[in-house]
Amino acid sequence: MNLPLTIAMPAEASAAPQTYRLLIDGKFVDARDGRTLERNSPGHGFTVSRYAQAGAAEVEAAVQAAQKAFETGPWPRMKAGERAAILLKAADLIEARLEEIARLDVLESGKPIVQARGEIGGAVDIWRYAAALARTLHGETYANLGDAMLGVVLREPIGVVSIITPWNFPFLIVSQKLPFALAAGCTAVVKPSEMTSASTFVLGDILMQAGLPDGVVNILAGLGADVGAPMVAHPLVEMVSFTGSTRVGKMTMASAANALKKVSMELGGKNGQIVFPDADLEAAADAAVFGGFFNAGECCNAGSRLIVHEAIADDFLGAVKALTARVTVGDPLDDSTKVGAMISSEHLAKVTGYVAAAANDGSSVYSGGKQIASSAGQYLDPTILRGVTEDMAIAREEVFGPVLSVLTFGSIEEALRIANNTPYGLSAGVWSASIDTCMSVARNVRSGTVWVNTFMEGYPELPFGGYKQSGLGRELGKRAVEDYTEEKTIQFHRGQRTGWWVG
Ligand code: NAD
Repeated sequence: MNLPLTIAMPAEASAAPQTYRLLIDGKFVDARDGRTLERNSPGHGFTVSRYAQAGAAEVEAAVQAAQKAFETGPWPRMKAGERAAILLKAADLIEARLEEIARLDVLESGKPIVQARGEIGGAVDIWRYAAALARTLHGETYANLGDAMLGVVLREPIGVVSIITPWNFPFLIVSQKLPFALAAGCTAVVKPSEMTSASTFVLGDILMQAGLPDGVVNILAGLGADVGAPMVAHPLVEMVSFTGSTRVGKMTMASAANALKKVSMELGGKNGQIVFPDADLEAAADAAVFGGFFNAGECCNAGSRLIVHEAIADDFLGAVKALTARVTVGDPLDDSTKVGAMISSEHLAKVTGYVAAAANDGSSVYSGGKQIASSAGQYLDPTILRGVTEDMAIAREEVFGPVLSVLTFGSIEEALRIANNTPYGLSAGVWSASIDTCMSVARNVRSGTVWVNTFMEGYPELPFGGYKQSGLGRELGKRAVEDYTEEKTIQFHRGQRTGWWVG
């Protein structure tokens, strides 16, 4: 790595920051008290966006608008085919504005542009998949209850849904929730992270253009305590769909429990990739680097623990280190960049604090470990730590940075024990040529996704979510729309009721 990095200033740096207003009841409006929030590009250091900052009054207005749209508006009542047509139109409009949306996510989050384009393309695919599910959502009938009874189970939209998203995949994560809620006929209040709200406001613009009725989707920028918390507690909200840290997820669940609201939780991860000696070690080494450093490690699915068989550890780690040296860290807007900027200086300090504590605990820095000096923004060298043991904080807690912790094992039982020895259970990977080994790991690892001889692929068709403290419920997959419904049982009785109680 040649230090320091020189970061070129993009055209946006010499223009006034782009401003975004709250979307409430079909109109873009300022906050009543005129407050705003600013976001600096973490990769470049200039102010890129300014959003109207919501508070309690805007939460109330947005929830009321969503409730009105649900109670009396056309959205829950229209044919699924008509809803699907609007979702498909939205998908086309997202695709048409892909470059603009990707650039906003890059400027606000620091992620590399090539990766961001892939995320927005993936989001387009999800919107189309949700549109298809809108048309196949159905209940059940029971004609086997005797001649006089027909049982019908309806799937009805649950009502107003509060959707709260994090900063690491701003557009992709809202797209894992909102189109499915809409496909079911729900209305929503959406709060993106206060650091990366811009692309969600563009989505609001797209939805209005696609013909979504007023009040069906309302979007608020603001802080978690001011906006997220009342969005969860509001009595008219029936369901909370949250993606973020396990810490805030627990608070959110506790608040939702007061009114027994349905919750969907996508939370943190501490995922292990287990590498056996008989694996395709070249492919596994590349996946180890990808798993550790993709999105600068700021990824719930990061393969932040590399669990390697002791017989191959030295050679394999040599290959991982050599590949890591070829990972380009730099300007997020440069097409050749693989690792961009860290989200904030506070977060960077937290990550480097973990590295320092791990060294104190007895592990050693095998590669990287240092903040990279740059002409603007904050960057961290991809870091590999060797000699990590299960009891260390670095092996158990979510670091959320480009830090790969290496642990070694001697037997499959030991590998599984290490993999499962964390409070999280989001995902895992196994690398081996043996079907027996792969199946043993896949069946016994306690996580919502297991990748076998691959890592971090995703498809709208496949459910995603966590075991243990990584979450509750699943997103995506063919049941994703059902998650935003209630079941209603209707019993139709034919002829005179028999078996009277009093007689
Ligand atoms: P965070 O928990 O700090 O914030 C997430 C969202 O919650 C933000 O919009 C924030 O403003 C809001 N919030 C904060 N306090 C709140 C409160 N009291 N009530 C309601 N809302 C509140 O998380 P983050 O730092 O933005 O994101 C990183 C975390 O997200 C990591 O832990 C990561 O693993 C997790 N994540 C999980 C998945 C998944 O699918 N499992 C995906 C992406 C990120």
